[in-house]
Amino acid sequence: MHWLAEGFHGDMHYMAAHGLRRARPAELVPGTVSVITARMNYLPRDTPSEWQAVEFDRLNRPGEGIVSLYARGRDYHKVLRNRLQKLAERIAAEVGPFGHRAFTDSAPVLEAELASRSGQGWRGKHTLVLDREAGSMFFLGEIYVDMALPASEPVTPHCGSCSACIDVCPTGAIVAPHRLDARRCISYLTIEHAGPIPLALRPLMGNRIYGCDDCQLICPWNKFAKKTELPDFDAREGLTGATLGALFAWTEDEFLRRTEGSPIRRIGHERWLRNVAVALGNARRVGEGDAAAALATRREDASALVREHVAWALDDAAELPR
Ligand code: SF4
Ligand code: SF4
Repeated sequence: MHWLAEGFHGDMHYMAAHGLRRARPAELVPGTVSVITARMNYLPRDTPSEWQAVEFDRLNRPGEGIVSLYARGRDYHKVLRNRLQKLAERIAAEVGPFGHRAFTDSAPVLEAELASRSGQGWRGKHTLVLDREAGSMFFLGEIYVDMALPASEPVTPHCGSCSACIDVCPTGAIVAPHRLDARRCISYLTIEHAGPIPLALRPLMGNRIYGCDDCQLICPWNKFAKKTELPDFDAREGLTGATLGALFAWTEDEFLRRTEGSPIRRIGHERWLRNVAVALGNARRVGEGDAAAALATRREDASALVREHVAWALDDAAELPR
């Protein structure tokens, strides 16, 4: 409630819309008396052992677009919910029918808090859940059930005096340990936020075009992050190592085709172009040769949002908002 009162949720109005129902499972699904929490690793199967350095290196190639690791494969919502549903069916086969509902990042559920209270890990200073044996590169899911289960215990936090995630955050979004101002977070700005990206934050986004992993990449516990066994999260062609120019050239049809079944699809083509335009502007300012030409192709784009970001990226002062 304090976080909401500060306005840290930005325009994620759904965060505020459900009030305390979010924190009270039985108000969301009447009859709920226990919650089974689960986590599922998502590092792609071919992730190299030095993956954190590999990912940080991408930031040194300003002409390349960076998509957050979790979003390079299939949309996790369906994958995880199907697996939770199967788990519930297997439990029912053992104990008989029971009322249940599975969630993953899809309903007013305080996922990270439920996960940490039930021992899936502790809340890091970046607010994500992390575990000594799995780091933080996993999705969370829950099954609300109408049967009383013995409670599992939380684990002890192990951040100690580390503040690496706070220090590395390019936009200063982690305003204090365990306090995230989503309005400054690149994940929020590139995915959740619909309108223009605040001018002051654009240069800080670098070449991150969908989400941001920096606070997780720097975390020492992610040396222990685990790879998934599922092919679903294998990176799709075109989402790693692609040039910003190539990504900016995607037509709406191409965007829809390439992001079919991917979490990226939900931001739509316009926001995609907005994000890539910002990255191209940042690339142009550090001397990336092809950036200006790519931007010029969309100077007259049908979308006012895209045109404005292109103008910013090209330093076209006359077109900028006042
Ligand atoms: S995701 Fe990126 S911008 Fe957001 S808090 Fe982490 S480091 Fe900062
Ligand atoms: S980087 Fe350090 S402070 Fe941040 S979550 Fe990891 S261990 Fe905790």
